[in-house]
Amino acid sequence: MKIGNKNLIAGNWKMNGLKKDLSFLHNLLLFIKNKKLKSTEVLICPPFTLIDTFSNLSKNTPLKIGAQDCHFEESGAYTGEISANMLKNLGVSYVILGHSERRGYYKENNHLINSKIKIAQKSGLKTILCIGETLSERKKNSTLRVIGRQIKDSLKGNIDPMNLEIAYEPVWAIGTGRIPSAEDIFLVHAFIKDKLDSFYGKKAKNIRILYGGSVNSKNISSIFGIDNVTGALIGGGSLKISEFKSLVTQSIKY
Ligand code: PEP
Repeated sequence: MKIGNKNLIAGNWKMNGLKKDLSFLHNLLLFIKNKKLKSTEVLICPPFTLIDTFSNLSKNTPLKIGAQDCHFEESGAYTGEISANMLKNLGVSYVILGHSERRGYYKENNHLINSKIKIAQKSGLKTILCIGETLSERKKNSTLRVIGRQIKDSLKGNIDPMNLEIAYEPVWAIGTGRIPSAEDIFLVHAFIKDKLDSFYGKKAKNIRILYGGSVNSKNISSIFGIDNVTGALIGGGSLKISEFKSLVTQSIKY
């Protein structure tokens, strides 16, 4: 359900996408132009290699382009890395930080993610902080404790709530076709909202709380019907244009 600001539909392409996939972008831009999206903001986060092209083609359109990660320093001797400034320089609006695949494969912790959020915001990027419990944490009834710690530690210090979104992504739901019950999503999103209210007061209402994990065109309506779900972060479902257009279309109703 929407609370004042637009829903956010964000596609995370992960390590997928080649130059030949530009047809996806042309198709999406045409679709967005015809839809006149008043209640929904659409974001695509392609791999670094496609950002410049996607960003140029989307200039002066409502489509936003984002990145899937950035480095925690502004510049320097970090071979192979990409800074938030470099992304801003390419016209990127958003950066996803703390995705569970980065936490898992590259051992990113809340402290590192906190540094990345700060540098990204300093560079003028909006930040999407991903949080979520593993299956074993859920089985131990630790979901809220884990999420509470991720929020507290990742948002330590001077964070701008006006440039912050949260994506609740249960790790066990990513790419598996499994999603939590509506009641579980409701409980976690309410918990996140309470935390944000206590950190940021009135400014917390600007922070959208996205759900992510196996969202598809069959389940998005019921997910968007849950209180405090103000967007979706979509992996697999953002790679096929027909599926992604269906997700955007269905999100407009809420
Ligand atoms: C993700 O990786 O952020 C994600 C939500 O993936 P999927 O939609 O494929 O579960």
